[in-house]
Amino acid sequence: MQTFSRILAVFALLAARTFATNFTGDVLNGVPVISYLNLTDVPSQAISRYYLRVGELNGGIPLHLPVMVARGTSKSLDTGKKLSLTAGIHGDELNGIRVIQTIFDQLQTQVSTLNGTVIAIPTVNPGGNSARLLAYNVWNNVWGNKSQVDVGLDLHTPSSGDESSLWCYADFRLPYVERLAKLLQPDTLKIDVGEPGSIETTFVDNKIPAITVEMGLAKRWNTTRINRVYDFVNRVMDDLYIIPSKYTTPYQPDLSQTYIVTTVEDTPSKYGGFVERLVLVDQPVTKGQAIANVRNAFGDILETIYSPDDGRMFQSPIDPTIEPGASAGQIVYNSTDPECADGCVL
Ligand SMILES: [Zn+2]
Repeated sequence: MQTFSRILAVFALLAARTFATNFTGDVLNGVPVISYLNLTDVPSQAISRYYLRVGELNGGIPLHLPVMVARGTSKSLDTGKKLSLTAGIHGDELNGIRVIQTIFDQLQTQVSTLNGTVIAIPTVNPGGNSARLLAYNVWNNVWGNKSQVDVGLDLHTPSSGDESSLWCYADFRLPYVERLAKLLQPDTLKIDVGEPGSIETTFVDNKIPAITVEMGLAKRWNTTRINRVYDFVNRVMDDLYIIPSKYTTPYQPDLSQTYIVTTVEDTPSKYGGFVERLVLVDQPVTKGQAIANVRNAFGDILETIYSPDDGRMFQSPIDPTIEPGASAGQIVYNSTDPECADGCVL
């Protein structure tokens, strides 16, 4: 996880400024290169593409992030909402990238009447580059030190080797975050105080409603998840009046299949070896139920892992190789501990 917020706390002090969009004069793959995005300089009723120059690596190799902006009608920059979509901050988490691409395909036909602005960075960190460089540049030079964002959606998948259902982190303490999370209609809704350093928590700490969406497996397109999150982004744009509403009254999310929980508890293996899953993602578990075996190279069971509570299997390893201390499965449930009312990760 990137240390966004800690870095930003330093740079935010420097950032009370408004510059014109700063074209460097470079053109990359036919796309203009900028060093600062100012939404007032972006053409209205159009989709614009930019590469943001985010500094240079040793040896002077320049780094660029692709930025897409769908800016609606001229006055809607002031009267409409500004939605940030990000994906790919962890380089192997790809499904969110496809969501952003398909949303922008759709916006081509809607941008002339769009009531607001959508700013997207489909690949925030494509090469695992310096977090410090990216944090400073994205916060200040795309989001304008938060002045150019009203709501943020940050799209992830589990890391390579793990599997989960469609779920989100949501900090219910900030108004509108609960609504965002419920609009997702996830399989699991994790009420959560956030992870310091994440994009979501950095936004929330700055009073901008945001959630982290986790959608499927690393390094694979999962069409079902992509389609579900695509529909979710549409519900959010509808809810924010960015696109014409399909509903006569505010959309009532269907949460009949959503497991809403405060607590996730990891069950690490003591041993290295091979993990054999006894329970699959989203299956219910009871306290004390065996959920995984860890075997050695001879096939002997070194350890059986048990569920810490009544709940559901939430995330589990699809890569059978496991190291000591690595997760053999994560269980979600509603803790009776009042300390966990706003969310716990145990
Ligand atoms: Zn991630």
